Amino acid sequence: VSRVRRPERSAVVDLAAIRHNVRHLKKLAAPAALMAVVKADAYGHGAVPVAQAALQGGADMLGVAHVTEALELREAGIKAPLLAWLHTVNTDFSAAIEYQVALGVSGWELEEIARVAQDMGATAQVHLKVDTGLGRNGYTLAGWPAAVRAAASAQQRGAIDVVGIMTHLGAADDPQAPENQEQLDAFQRAVQVAREAGLTPSILHAANTPGTFDAQDMADPTSMLCDMVRVGIGIYGISPFAERTAEELGLIPAMTLRTTVNNVKEVPAGQGVSYGFNYRTEQPTTLALIPLGYADGVPRIGTGGPVRIHGVSYAEVGRVAMDQMVVDLGEPGLASDPDRNPLGAEAVLFGAGANPSVREWSQAAQTIDYEIVTRISPRVPREYV
Ligand code: PLP
Repeated sequence: VSRVRRPERSAVVDLAAIRHNVRHLKKLAAPAALMAVVKADAYGHGAVPVAQAALQGGADMLGVAHVTEALELREAGIKAPLLAWLHTVNTDFSAAIEYQVALGVSGWELEEIARVAQDMGATAQVHLKVDTGLGRNGYTLAGWPAAVRAAASAQQRGAIDVVGIMTHLGAADDPQAPENQEQLDAFQRAVQVAREAGLTPSILHAANTPGTFDAQDMADPTSMLCDMVRVGIGIYGISPFAERTAEELGLIPAMTLRTTVNNVKEVPAGQGVSYGFNYRTEQPTTLALIPLGYADGVPRIGTGGPVRIHGVSYAEVGRVAMDQMVVDLGEPGLASDPDRNPLGAEAVLFGAGANPSVREWSQAAQTIDYEIVTRISPRVPREYV
C-alpha cells in the first residue's frame, strides 16, 4: 500500500496543457484575438489557476457567464479584460462597472446598465449580443434595429461604450450544418445595422471552439473568426466534435480524474454488485473498489465507464453509487497475490496520454464531455501540476 500522502481522490489539472491549448488555438484563430472562456469554475478545472494559465498562454480576454464569476477573478487579482454575458434582475452591475467587467447585453439590461453607470458617473463597457438563431439570450433580429438605436443613444450620453457585438452559434460542432453560415450572414447584417445606427464596435465575435476549427476549412475564415474567438472546451484539451479526438485537433486533455483502489476482494460466481444487483459475476473473480461516485460527479448512469489500473482499462460494473464504484478485474486470486494485488494502486477514470479519455465516460453516460468535467464536484480536490 502506498504511503505517499496525496489527496484520496483528485482532479489533477495540468496547467502546461492549458497553456499549450491556448497557444494552439490562438495560432488557429490569428489574426483574431482569443477569449478564454472560464465560466463554471473553468469547466470544473478551477477558474483562477486556469485563467492565469490561459493568460500566460496568450489569451487576450477572459469570458464568463455571470458577473459573480468575473468578480471572483478580480478578487484573485486578475486584471485582464473580462466579459460576463448572462444576467438576472439581481445582478450587481455597479460592482461589474467598478471592477471594469465588460457586460454582454441582450435586452432589458441595456437601460439598467446605462442607468447604474450614469448614477456612478462611469461608462460601462458593453458587448451587444444578437440572437442569430440559437433562441437563447441575445436580441432577436426583429428587435435589433431598435436595440442599436437605444444603445447609440446611451452611448451618446456617455453611459455605455459599445465595444463589441457578439452572437453564439448553435451547431458549430457540425461543420456541415447550413445554420452555421446562415447565422454568420445574419450576424454580418446585424453588424451593418449597428454601424448605420452610429455604433463603431471594435470587437466582433461569434466562434466558440468548434467554430474556430470549422474556420480552418472555410473559404473565408474571417467570417467565422471575426475579431475574436470565445474558446472554452478546447482550452481544456477536449474535442467538441463527435467524430474527432482531442489528439487529432492538436489538443492535450488538462484534467485527470484519479484515486486509488481502496479495497480488493475475492468473490464467487453469482456475486451481485452494487444497488439493484444489475451486475452479477459470471465466475469467481476479484473485485476492486474505487472511491469515486455520483456525489463526486461521476454520472450514476455511467456504468461501463473505464477505470485504468496497472496499465489496464477495466469497465466499471454495476451502478455507480454515491461514493464508490466497482471494477471486475476478471480473474480470481489477485487479492492474495502480493505481486498483483492492486490495493492502493492508482485508478484513473480519465486523463491524457494512455489513460481513458473523458469521451469514454460521456459515452457511457449518454452525455457530452462538457457535462462530465463541469460536474466534477467540489468534494474532489483539484491538484495543479
Ligand atoms: N461563448 C458563449 C456565449 C458560450 O456560452 C460558450 C459556452 O457554452 C462559449 C463561448 C464557449 O464554447 P466552447 O466551450 O464550445 O468553446
